[in-house]
Amino acid sequence: MRELRDRDKAAFSWLAKRLAANWSRSYFGTQSKCDVLLNNMCECFNAVILGARGLPILDMLETVRLILMKRIHVWRDQMKKYSREICLAIQKFLENLMKKSNDFIVHWNGDAKFEAEDSYGDRLNVNLRMRTCSCRRWQLNGIPCAHAIAAIFYMGEEPEAYVDECYHKETYLRIYSHLMTTLDGSNSWPDSEMPPMLPLEHEKLPGRLKKNNRRKQPDEINLGGKKVVDTAKGTQQSVAKLASERTVELTAIAINESEPATHARKKLEVRRNWMASQSSVASCYPK
Ligand SMILES: [Zn+2]
Repeated sequence: MRELRDRDKAAFSWLAKRLAANWSRSYFGTQSKCDVLLNNMCECFNAVILGARGLPILDMLETVRLILMKRIHVWRDQMKKYSREICLAIQKFLENLMKKSNDFIVHWNGDAKFEAEDSYGDRLNVNLRMRTCSCRRWQLNGIPCAHAIAAIFYMGEEPEAYVDECYHKETYLRIYSHLMTTLDGSNSWPDSEMPPMLPLEHEKLPGRLKKNNRRKQPDEINLGGKKVVDTAKGTQQSVAKLASERTVELTAIAINESEPATHARKKLEVRRNWMASQSSVASCYPK
């Protein structure tokens, strides 16, 4: 913090007002086994639903639901083919740490405690029974740090045995065992007796208007006395035909008769792109 204050006083005072547990790894709790400081998980989710975000609200939710339904069993099936005990990304991370562990000499106390000494003579305290290291990395993410691995090797054991069970293949399969149920199309949904939801009142702000890419449901469009779609039916049939040629799964997507053809085309395009992207999922895991 002293260094930060010297570099940027505004950043220092902004951070000083906030709880350190929300932005500093050194103050994170150790229960969740997560040391992620970034919002990469949200970014990944946003990237997957990028195409769906421009759809009307119901189509967007339906498309996200289908994406998730497919994703769960695709990843489950890939993991079933994977032969090792620890998940692949963690296994690679662990193997890198194993190489780094060569930089440390360990001094054993005869029980479960070790001092890991680096080439500069600096020492850190490892406890294999409690699964802790004074660098705190092991407690934070559940993966033995390089100091701990040096101690594990000293005892002639495998570092994989000390990785938290949240990274085990078995845990992964248990999480992905809950599949999403299937639903009928919107034609079969019961009519609600509640009044239709209205959008919030729009307050015009100063400045340039933002471009709104979201397409509207037919009932959201201000008709102004004109029909929304005149030739939708014919185009929808051709879209459905195209879908049946590409994949059997796509034919399961019901195209609403009252929906404009452009919406149906966009919806199919989003789902088709996503289905195509799943072929790359298989390459992530070695057989
Ligand atoms: Zn450590």
